[in-house]
Amino acid sequence: MINVPELFGQNVFNDDVMRDRLPKPIYKALKKTIQDGATLDESVANAVAHAMKEWAIEKGCTHYTHWFQPLTGVTAEKHDSFITPDGDGKVIMTFSGKELIKGEPDASSFPNGGIRATFEARGYTAWDPTSPAFAKDGTLYIPTAFCSYTGEVLDKKTPLLRSMERISKEAVRILHLFGKDDVTRVVTTVGPEQEYFLIDKEMYNARPDLIYTGRTLFGAKAPKGQELDDHYFGSIKTRISRFMTELDRELWSYGIYAKTKHNEVAPAQHEVAPIFTTTNVAVDNNELLMEILKKTAEKFGLVCLLHEKPFAGVNGSGKHNNWSISTNTGENLLKPGKNPAENTQFLLFLAAIVKAVDEYQDLLRISVASAGNDHRLGANEAPPAIISMFLGDDLGAVVDSIEIGEEHESQGKKNMDLGVDVLPTVRKDTTDRNRTSPFAFTGNRFEFRMLGSAINIASANIILNTTVAEELRQFADELEGAKNFEKSAKALIAKTFKKHHRIIFNGDNYSDEWVAEAEKRGLLNLKNVPQALKHYLDEKNVELFTKSGVFTKEELFARYEVELENYAKLINIEALTMLDMAKKDIIPSVTDYVKQLTDTALAKQALSDDIPITLEKQLITDLSQKLVCFSDKVSELENDLINAGELINDMQAYADFYCNTVFADMQALRAIGDDMETETASEYWPYPSYGEMLFGV
Ligand code: ADP
Ligand code: MG
Repeated sequence: MINVPELFGQNVFNDDVMRDRLPKPIYKALKKTIQDGATLDESVANAVAHAMKEWAIEKGCTHYTHWFQPLTGVTAEKHDSFITPDGDGKVIMTFSGKELIKGEPDASSFPNGGIRATFEARGYTAWDPTSPAFAKDGTLYIPTAFCSYTGEVLDKKTPLLRSMERISKEAVRILHLFGKDDVTRVVTTVGPEQEYFLIDKEMYNARPDLIYTGRTLFGAKAPKGQELDDHYFGSIKTRISRFMTELDRELWSYGIYAKTKHNEVAPAQHEVAPIFTTTNVAVDNNELLMEILKKTAEKFGLVCLLHEKPFAGVNGSGKHNNWSISTNTGENLLKPGKNPAENTQFLLFLAAIVKAVDEYQDLLRISVASAGNDHRLGANEAPPAIISMFLGDDLGAVVDSIEIGEEHESQGKKNMDLGVDVLPTVRKDTTDRNRTSPFAFTGNRFEFRMLGSAINIASANIILNTTVAEELRQFADELEGAKNFEKSAKALIAKTFKKHHRIIFNGDNYSDEWVAEAEKRGLLNLKNVPQALKHYLDEKNVELFTKSGVFTKEELFARYEVELENYAKLINIEALTMLDMAKKDIIPSVTDYVKQLTDTALAKQALSDDIPITLEKQLITDLSQKLVCFSDKVSELENDLINAGELINDMQAYADFYCNTVFADMQALRAIGDDMETETASEYWPYPSYGEMLFGV
């Protein structure tokens, strides 16, 4: 039996541990920093560091690391031991406040988008006291922000914290207008649902594409995919169930509120969702969760694939970013209450979000842009690349009536009669779900559904917080001077809904009609990473970030360059992997099989002219022709990789070329490869098949 309350947070230097181990005044000072964002004093830092070290040593730690989130998209860590020579040839274990607060990793090898030359290697990490430290694998992990010697941010954490401060400030201004003077701080909360695939480790090891790129670059479809919907919420296989039990145990020990687990739509696909928490902690937890998913899988001879599209032909994996705003007094600002039509405060926040999503569609799209996610968005399994919002029937009707200035009659929750007496009466939600919408209101939060399974969720939340903060700022500026606040607020709400109505869409986002309709409405449809990134530096976006202080212009430009370059590099790795597989494995294997067919045909002929060899002849001819075609496509891809190299000085053109030309070459190569797979005897095919991988556990 597991004692969950006892296990929970065992590896975390959390509030309980701090209260237990820190002298009262120190604890109070630290709490003040955590809750109100007050700056930390050095003596406090020293005391906290000491307590952390003692605790970590008891947890078996010998090292500490500043844990940060550079622009590589994965977390980074460099471990330092606690040892200090004591002068007598022995060591003592020390950890100072200075070491806790500031680290100096060599930053030269992290992407910086030209912010610094490589010889300016210095980078700093700074402790984020609002996200708890934890002990893992013999090391004390300290969540930190990462910046360059000259102070430009080089990570995802710093802008996230900045964006959280901005939205807090502007939301508090609005709430004070509503007379809520006790509100001093507002936080955004996030609950990310994480999808992933699990496959057998042996099969993974036999696939260079999975090893190098995380997705299959070749692979013919299995006879069965997800068409029966029998995997979704299906009963969980024993090996997977053991994995999930261990996963929960691990997550809980790191203080992650793992709550829901189930099988997803595609075979071998699953989901885990924690209970929501403060955004920066949710981001850190999600990064840790992804790592724990991978490590736990290994224990069971499995591999966890976090790529957005490991397998063609079945659903890919995403991450739903459930996002809301709440006050330090415990109020969820996105809760409509019994009568949303009368709830001016709720409607004002809703209006700000509607305006933000409409005006910054491009940034929201950019915030989820990754090479992997390009396979999902718009592919009828994930939301389209077009951003729109779903409000549901009830709220939609409220908004409609406000726009035309009419009273709205709320329907309220209805009871649902299931027609069976023993079943309890179920209260029906006022709105059904719309699974196709990229940005859906789900009762007390918005669910941003476009995120890819592998990406750091910080980016999306930076954009949500910053853009909504900007709209709230505009609202507060306008309303603070108003003579009749209530009347002005209502007028502002109506004006905003009217102006931004085009972003609201309650229908089927997968339909072709919507694509046409969205175009008519003037909504953006940014189909791939390079197309989306082009908008990064649009004037309104530069203004948004520089005015709010979330990014300087230089930081923004750096991010644009880094993301384009990352994209091109990723496609380049995929292309090289395909070439390797094609030349070293696929061509030789198919050739072998053709030789085997030829030998058989010749042997049959030698025996007697009467034995038919039509089948062999047909297969030999067919496969030989395909081999020629295949090898032509190999050459085309090779040539285009050389052509790409000539564009490297223009990052946008370079990425565009990878997207439009190299990627197209890869798809053409794959098509013939997959076709040959269906005609080649399994014993000759060099890789485990889709069927084996997807149904092999
Ligand atoms: P579904 O799959 O039906 O959308 P899940 O239960 O899988 O629902 O996930 C819902 C997520 O939304 C959970 O992580 C939950 O904690 C989160 N959530 C609920 N309320 C809030 C809130 N106020 N702010 C942020 N996230 C929330
Ligand atoms: Mg879900």
